[in-house]
Amino acid sequence: MLPIVALVGRPNVGKSTLFNRFLRKSRAITHDMPGVTRDRIYGECVMGDVRFDLVDTGGMVLESEATPELSKDFEDEIFEQAREAIEEADGIIFVVDGKEGLTPLDRQAAEYVRKSGKPVFMLINKVDGSEFAPQMTAEFHEMGIEQMPVSAAHGYNLHEVRDYVRRFVLDLGIPEETEEDRVEAGLKLTMLGRPNAGKSSIINAVIGRDRLIVSDVAGTTRDSIDVTFEKKGKRYTFVDTAGVRKRANIQDHLEKISVIRALKNSKRSDVTVLTIDITLGVGRQDKRLIEFLAKEKTPFIVVVNKCDLIPKSETNKALEAFRRELRVIPHVPVVMTSAQKGVGIGKLLPLAETLRRECEIRIGTGALNRALAAVLEKLQPPVVKRRRPKFYYVTQADEPIPTFVFFCNDHTLVKQSYVRYLENQFRKLLGISAAPVNIVFRSSH
Ligand code: GDP
Ligand code: GDP
Repeated sequence: MLPIVALVGRPNVGKSTLFNRFLRKSRAITHDMPGVTRDRIYGECVMGDVRFDLVDTGGMVLESEATPELSKDFEDEIFEQAREAIEEADGIIFVVDGKEGLTPLDRQAAEYVRKSGKPVFMLINKVDGSEFAPQMTAEFHEMGIEQMPVSAAHGYNLHEVRDYVRRFVLDLGIPEETEEDRVEAGLKLTMLGRPNAGKSSIINAVIGRDRLIVSDVAGTTRDSIDVTFEKKGKRYTFVDTAGVRKRANIQDHLEKISVIRALKNSKRSDVTVLTIDITLGVGRQDKRLIEFLAKEKTPFIVVVNKCDLIPKSETNKALEAFRRELRVIPHVPVVMTSAQKGVGIGKLLPLAETLRRECEIRIGTGALNRALAAVLEKLQPPVVKRRRPKFYYVTQADEPIPTFVFFCNDHTLVKQSYVRYLENQFRKLLGISAAPVNIVFRSSH
């Protein structure tokens, strides 16, 4: 498990800009994707020999949108977000705006941070050059938090800041997950879903009487309990079952806190399982989760549980309704289960295996370009603004999910309908049915 560092601060101080600066390299490939805006909630950073997860509270709209009653007013909302981030984090980067100076909201936020007792340092952002540093930083000294000036937008002091962040993370003293740990765990699954949807029951039903290898990781401060077991000679791990159990026992309001944690877990697992109670249908929170998982191109399965509670004659109708909710991501498998009666449970692990196998597919450039030729032959891209998009060649990028980079004359000429056509054809030709696929364009004007 990687250390978690949270960017905390009031809106507009530049958290998202910093987030992008810190993450830049690992995300570069997605920038060419047409029509995709990313919720920048969470991402993995690499700084020299150090890896950690960075959480950007600026992008966290998920919780407040799911529960409007929580956001009584703007300040409440900010604190809710900051509080969640602080709770999840091992270390905190507190961000303030050097141009605006110290505000009452900064002081309040700093008070929260201090109370958490977690390691913290402060970035005074928007110091757009060394000549401004002494004057802009002076008033922040009184806060008694170690500080550095920076300009996220213009790059001033950024190199030093990265180096400082690197040492800050090292000093948190959280041991890195080794390659060995990763292999030991086998295929990793994260359970998402509303309380009482049946997540723990499904975990129990899946594991059944098979050999449990680890049931408790003692001494972790974050009380994350991974459950590793063996089934038919293969290893699997349910990630963070403590989170699953805890969510089952607390009311809706508190449950929002663990959304961040759940999404984060889904990032560090191979397959995410979203469980929905068939009698309740797809709720608001489920919709947001589906949207997020789709946008993040997360390999996931939807499990429609408690099918024993509706008559058999109605299951098809119910399944269709769930499929409709997933129409923008038709590749996502939907499984009907009853954890109580053991129905459908046997399908879960094989499906997860399929998803992982498809994610690991690597196809040579020769085969890809033969596929491209066939696909173009069958249907030319439509002319846009009297110009026809031209595809030169396609390669697969080295990414965790199948990512195909199409080199073309001008990607703005490629219609969304044609992107869908490309994706569907490539899926068919390459045998990728359930995994997410990323279609990326590079233009050479
Ligand atoms: P967040 O709400 O804290 O995530 O803030 P954003 O990253 O969205 O930034 C808010 C605004 O401040 C945007 O208009 C940025 O372009 C601007 N900004 C961010 N960093 C800097 C900086 O270093 N210098 C200046 N002058 N503007 C910045
Ligand atoms: P979690 O909060 O998502 O982990 O949900 P639990 O696994 O704790 O299940 C919540 C409740 O639903 C419990 O009372 C379970 O016995 C019940 N439950 C779970 N799966 C099923 C199912 O397939 N059918 C029925 N009828 N009840 C179920």
